[in-house]
Amino acid sequence: MDLIANVERELAQLETHSLTRRRRVAETRCAPLQVVDGRPMLAFCSNDYLGLAAHPRVVEALREGAQIYGAGSGASHLVSGHSRAHAVLEERLAQLQAPYVESAQALYFSTGYMANLAVLTTLGANADAAIFSEALNHASLIDGARLARAGVSVFPHGGTDTLAAQLEASNAVTKIVVTDSVFSMDGDLAPLPQLLALCERHGAWLVVDDAHGFGVLGENGRGALEHFALRSPNLVYVGTLGKAAGVSGAFVAAHHSVIELMVQRARPYIYTTAAPPALAHALLTSLDIIAGDEGKGLRAHLQSLLAQLDSELTLARWQRLPSQTAIQPIIIGANDEALRAAAALHANGLWVPAIRPPTVAQGTARLRVTLSAAHTHQEVAQLAAALNDLERT
Ligand code: PMP
Repeated sequence: MDLIANVERELAQLETHSLTRRRRVAETRCAPLQVVDGRPMLAFCSNDYLGLAAHPRVVEALREGAQIYGAGSGASHLVSGHSRAHAVLEERLAQLQAPYVESAQALYFSTGYMANLAVLTTLGANADAAIFSEALNHASLIDGARLARAGVSVFPHGGTDTLAAQLEASNAVTKIVVTDSVFSMDGDLAPLPQLLALCERHGAWLVVDDAHGFGVLGENGRGALEHFALRSPNLVYVGTLGKAAGVSGAFVAAHHSVIELMVQRARPYIYTTAAPPALAHALLTSLDIIAGDEGKGLRAHLQSLLAQLDSELTLARWQRLPSQTAIQPIIIGANDEALRAAAALHANGLWVPAIRPPTVAQGTARLRVTLSAAHTHQEVAQLAAALNDLERT
């Protein structure tokens, strides 16, 4: 019984610090209007930034993919699970990043979490490598750095001067700088042009996790590298496909030799069942939408919703972080106050998650509003009014 008692003590500690997380059950498809735990809700919490998760053409492509390829892949990629759908998707993804990543090839993964583990454990496999990791990087990059044998140094958020000094002082054989492009809890952009210049000067890789940029940033939705018009052989790009692309999975686009080394060495690629080919098939339709006029229209609508939220929110006490992306955090501070705010919104039929440590730093608990092109102006007006009211009470 001691075993169980220890676990229960740990759970009780979380509860004491208002850190217990609860899952809500969505009964309907991912969309602004959902039934959640049996109640209709207006949701501002998904990463479905373009509304493709329930897009009729994407859903139809998924059904078609299942008819062609069946339900599952049956094996890992290197055994027999690598299908034509995976291969075609990888070619398309490589083409999308080819203007920015020299000699680009792409590799499709089941999740972004695994893609990040794969990149860092492959490039940073040896003890004579060094990883330089941004302080606010996503957990999957932190875990990838922990799994790699390379030494790890953390540089402060936006701290290009510190990074420059760390790179200068390092005599590692392989240097790897790694950063989110859009920080997932703050919504701001990394200074990628400055980071790339430093990497080129010091012969370092720049690994860019564009989980929240792919599909959203750039004229054609190709993501952060298109947004900043970067091009370099030093770039290793990670895009996820479960957010703006509306399905699931992720990809790495890098020089073809890096991709080949990952196929040979990356354990999160090799030792896991390949994602269902139907998902890859559905993603081809997502990519068509993202790249076409419809995608441009969706991104323009999302931008107009961001501008609306910006003009209608009149917060004084809570701090809204400056963000030009779909991630719009409102910093409240204390864990219990953030939870109370989320509960009050919930009682009003609005689903906005409270984000607490360890996901964010102590004392910076927040409401993380995310907007999607699937939202209407009227829905954003409803959110802004509710937040303004709530802050005053
Ligand atoms: N990187 C970042 C910045 C993320 O926000 C996420 C997902 N929250 C991931 C990677 C992981 O991607 P996935 O959900 O596909 O595992």
